[in-house]
Amino acid sequence: MDLVARLAANLARVRQQISEASLRAGRRPEDIRLVGVTKYVDVQAARALFEAGLHDLAESRPQELWRKADALKELPSRWHFIGHLQRNKVERTLPLISLLQSGDSLQLLEAVSTAAVKQGRIVDTLLEVNISGDGAKHGFAPDFLRSALSTIGTLPAIRIRGLMGMAALEGGSERARRDFAALRELRETLKLECPPEIDLTELSMGMSGDFIEAIEAGATIVRVGSALFEGLE
Ligand SMILES: *Cc1c(COP(=O)(O)O)cnc(C)c1O
Repeated sequence: MDLVARLAANLARVRQQISEASLRAGRRPEDIRLVGVTKYVDVQAARALFEAGLHDLAESRPQELWRKADALKELPSRWHFIGHLQRNKVERTLPLISLLQSGDSLQLLEAVSTAAVKQGRIVDTLLEVNISGDGAKHGFAPDFLRSALSTIGTLPAIRIRGLMGMAALEGGSERARRDFAALRELRETLKLECPPEIDLTELSMGMSGDFIEAIEAGATIVRVGSALFEGLE
């Protein structure tokens, strides 16, 4: 089977699972956006995934994003950035992305806003929350985020669209359900308190191993890598 056909089959399977999970949860499948994480594969496989029909693509390392976005620049893809973005890489990254999913600190958001003002753009951003409390993970601590929202709301060139989070690595699907429920509850709490400029509609949670649990818990964006590239040599 050629690459595009193989990826189209994987994509159909993942979309089917998304659809079934949303119907089980009483949700509409079209309310969940699938983002394909291309960090494990080369440019050729990323292109093939686009050709198989997935136009939202994501990278977690700036250099890899720059490389792939440049190699595929003729395609009308939408790139998402989902990893830790060092402040010295902000300027070069912003023009390439449609959504910064990993707004993980106030310092980063300030740097993004400053660069975006210079570039004359508004950057759609999610606030990454360290929901599992894992010390090795990036992201806002929930309590700090509550206290920082009014400052975030004053940043001129950032448009907050929601929250992003990851479940703990250990603990299986029970733990994932708990972490996702916590992120959703945090979103509900913050919605009541946050300034009107901050929109918390999107909930980006769920990866290959737990996107079904995430959809049942209310995810509006799922970030799937390995499940889309299964069976490639
Ligand atoms: C790698 C990665 C994913 C996708 O992981 P898979 O388990 O391969 O689906 C999703 N989100 C983030 C932030 C990642 O770094």
